[in-house]
Amino acid sequence: MPTAVKSPAESERIVVTGARVHNLQNIDFEIPHNSLTVVTGVSGSGKSSLAFDTIYAEGQRRYIESLSAYARQFLERIEKPDIDEVTGIAPAISIRQRNTARTPRSTVGTSTEIYDYIRLLFARVGVTRCRECGTPVGKDTVDQIADTVTSWQDGTRFYVLFPLPQLEGEEQIAQCLGDLKRRGFGRVFQDGRTFEYSKPESLLDVDFNRQAYVLVDRLKVDDEVRQRLIDSVEICFHENQGEVVILVAESNAGAGIHRFSERFECKKCNIRYEDPEPKLFSFNSPFGACSRCQGFGNTIDLDMDLVIPDKGKSLIEGAVNPWTKPRYRKYLTDFKKRAASASVPVDVPYRDLTAEQQGFVIEGVRKFFDYLETKKYKLHIRVFLSRYRGYTLCRECGGARLRQEARDIYVDGENIADIARMSTAEAFEFFRDVKLSPMQAEIAERVLWEIHTRLRFLNDVGLQYLTLDRLASTLSGGEAQRIQLATSLGSTLVGALYVLDEPSIGLHPRDGLRLIEILKRLRQLGNTVLVVEHDAEMIRAADWIIDLGPGAGENGGQLVFQGTLDALTTTGASLTGKYLNKELRVPLPKERRAPRKQKLTLKGAAKHNLKEIDVEIPLGLMTCVTGVSGSGKSTLVHNCLYEALKAHINGTESAPSSGRIEVNPKWIADVVLVDQSPIGRTPRSNPVTYIKAFDQVRELLASTREAQSHGYTAGSFSFNIPGGRCETCQGDGTVTVEMQFLADVALVCEECKGMRYKSGVLETLYKGRNIYQILQLTVREALGFFSSVGRITKKLTMLDEVGLGYLRLGQSATTLSGGEAQRIKLASHLARDTSNKTLFIFDEPTTGLHFDDINKLLVAFRRLIRAGSSVLIIEHNLDVVKSADWVIDLGPEGGDGGGRVVAVGTPEQVSRNRKSITGKFLKPVLKR
Ligand code: ADP
Ligand code: ADP
Ligand code: ZN
Ligand code: ZN
Repeated sequence: MPTAVKSPAESERIVVTGARVHNLQNIDFEIPHNSLTVVTGVSGSGKSSLAFDTIYAEGQRRYIESLSAYARQFLERIEKPDIDEVTGIAPAISIRQRNTARTPRSTVGTSTEIYDYIRLLFARVGVTRCRECGTPVGKDTVDQIADTVTSWQDGTRFYVLFPLPQLEGEEQIAQCLGDLKRRGFGRVFQDGRTFEYSKPESLLDVDFNRQAYVLVDRLKVDDEVRQRLIDSVEICFHENQGEVVILVAESNAGAGIHRFSERFECKKCNIRYEDPEPKLFSFNSPFGACSRCQGFGNTIDLDMDLVIPDKGKSLIEGAVNPWTKPRYRKYLTDFKKRAASASVPVDVPYRDLTAEQQGFVIEGVRKFFDYLETKKYKLHIRVFLSRYRGYTLCRECGGARLRQEARDIYVDGENIADIARMSTAEAFEFFRDVKLSPMQAEIAERVLWEIHTRLRFLNDVGLQYLTLDRLASTLSGGEAQRIQLATSLGSTLVGALYVLDEPSIGLHPRDGLRLIEILKRLRQLGNTVLVVEHDAEMIRAADWIIDLGPGAGENGGQLVFQGTLDALTTTGASLTGKYLNKELRVPLPKERRAPRKQKLTLKGAAKHNLKEIDVEIPLGLMTCVTGVSGSGKSTLVHNCLYEALKAHINGTESAPSSGRIEVNPKWIADVVLVDQSPIGRTPRSNPVTYIKAFDQVRELLASTREAQSHGYTAGSFSFNIPGGRCETCQGDGTVTVEMQFLADVALVCEECKGMRYKSGVLETLYKGRNIYQILQLTVREALGFFSSVGRITKKLTMLDEVGLGYLRLGQSATTLSGGEAQRIKLASHLARDTSNKTLFIFDEPTTGLHFDDINKLLVAFRRLIRAGSSVLIIEHNLDVVKSADWVIDLGPEGGDGGGRVVAVGTPEQVSRNRKSITGKFLKPVLKR
């Protein structure tokens, strides 16, 4: 019988007894409610197993229990975490570093709901302005018209009219007028004269080629006129699709024509506009989306950056790339003639031409491509065209993604696309100072408040540089996590359990402090916050600390400590405690390598926020790229340096905005990006397959007498090809069940019971273990098990050396963290020995690493350098930055306020640079 669960309100803490998930060794622990609890310990010690696979999983399971019968039918097959008892658990929400973009159109604005509120605001208080003449467009109501007219001077005489449609030919005229007459309209008005149809001869004077009107009434402004005026105006609206003309007789002051319309249109320009309503501003709705790009903001079109790749060339030097090809050279000759007659110089670099002259060139290019389009039935033309096509801004909406009518509506001078292009910091200021009339302000108050709070949270979590229209799919894991965090803060959920995974990832130490404030606020709202984290400041800020260890995998999973910070730093048993009280520290390097003459130069990097910067990367060194979040580190390293260098090495072209590489080819042979993307997307990829040691393991098994007697080959021990693997799960060991409304659930395969192979294959043993049991070994165990097989241990050793000795050989790629995946890649490069003259790029390699793991990582980096390579690292962790030979600090701020090189030099030099925010934080850690 399960024990009854006390509701969290009754108990003050979550109490867990006998947790045995993964490597947890039957441990008991507690988590106080309404507290900020940090789980820490070396990598692989069991933090995620505790936070996500035990606490969150059980919270989620309890939650499902309260759900539909459909969901519940799977419940008994969802493995219950291996625990004796849990009390006091609340519904759990996990915020992991996964990119959760729902649609390719989803943006920072939509995924935080900010954009939805802005749409509401525009629908309520937006003002439409005519796109031709700029005057505000509005509808005229009957009452407003009556107010206007009765405000005129008493005694003013006026006509109430509606325009006669354009008529052609006597027959049409006769029919239309006859029709009107039957409905009681007997008079036509033109040029101040009235014509009655009862006297046909008088109609001969009407010029039907010009505008004529039907006269509805003749009135004079006085106290009694209002009701009769209203009736007449309503008749006009009814007869003429909502339009009325009031003409003041010439003898009066203010004589002239006054047009009113109950239609939403500009009276001067006759352009119709759309009623502002929320769906008009939605690029996810067919109603609001730009019809050319369907709301994506870009289309596959001629890409001028590809057509004119080098803007420093003149036309005769071949600025227009397609016209340099032999087949199309004659178009350049033609164009030169036309350019001469339009006085467009052909010997001036394209970038120095005036906007008008550039327009002339672009027009010529478009004509040329339009011509080619007509020849598309030829294959070589299609191939040629495709070379110059790319995603380019939609010509219709200019990337605003919305139809014109939506962009004609303004709030305080900005349309919704202008606002979407703002960074969250700019948007925050805009809405804080927004100018509204008192009535608008009243209508908008609640909506503005919602927008405000959400923008403030985004700013508070250090995302002030992200623009609202930034695609969610282009965010880093850390940014996506912080967006989710800000969104949760915006919701009013209380009494929940939040479980977070290293939220400090991607944050400069400066922003880390703000993050801590946010988590405390989440707690103050009445929630329980459980964070897996290594960051010293975060640990210091915690109300409760759970420290796991002492080692990783089998050697971890024990509760080293639980309690408050004070107790932790004085127990002596905890490695974390020793680092916190400075008994232990990552040592400063004994010496730094000085830059030599070998270097790599990137010139004119200009993507995203980079301000055409030049950077020099000394080769044969360990270089760190630092800077506050959003300063441009990833853009510089991934989008510019890596792209340009790869292209340079392969002899291909990269986008001009990536910058140009200058390097002696003898100094560099290859560039390798070692990032945190998964090593594979199926459970069939795993550490041992990735480092290419599995082939040897399978050969070893195939060479046993047992295997040979059954005719098993190395292939029989593969789970990638049919043969020996279980076919029910195709060697995955699990099958995935789709759950309505919930994330898919992986269930253990019923056929092979998760062992992944057919039973025959499993009878083949090497040193007493079958293939399944071998895959269950940890790397460190396997080192002993295969000790006589050098070709296997040589590779496995590398995994151990990067701190992954605790991983099981067959642990599926889908359960590895980003940091683990990155270190497996590192190990595979170390195992290859071919890293000579290679530039290795790492993006926050300390993800998932405890202080104690960082030492190991630094050792691995130094090995790469000793083998003749260079290491370039994007990093915030000060223990790594202080260990670098060279630092390139970007900034000074994030977003548009960044994108420049602030400081360059040794960590000591950067720490002395007053302009560098990183320098300020480096100073204290550099003390010997
Ligand atoms: P940490 O979060 O402290 O880095 P984890 O909780 O991820 O550590 O891992 C603890 C141990 O449990 C490791 O030995 C790891 O290989 C193992 N482990 C983690 N996830 C799984 C899983 N899904 N299946 C089997 N073993 C796992
Ligand atoms: P860091 O790595 O230093 O945190 P990034 O290079 O990610 O900074 O970002 C620098 C600037 O470029 C920021 O303003 C960011 O919003 C912008 N940016 C980054 N990636 C993209 C992208 N894919 N599309 C548009 N803007 C981007
Ligand atoms: Zn468009
Ligand atoms: Zn199976």
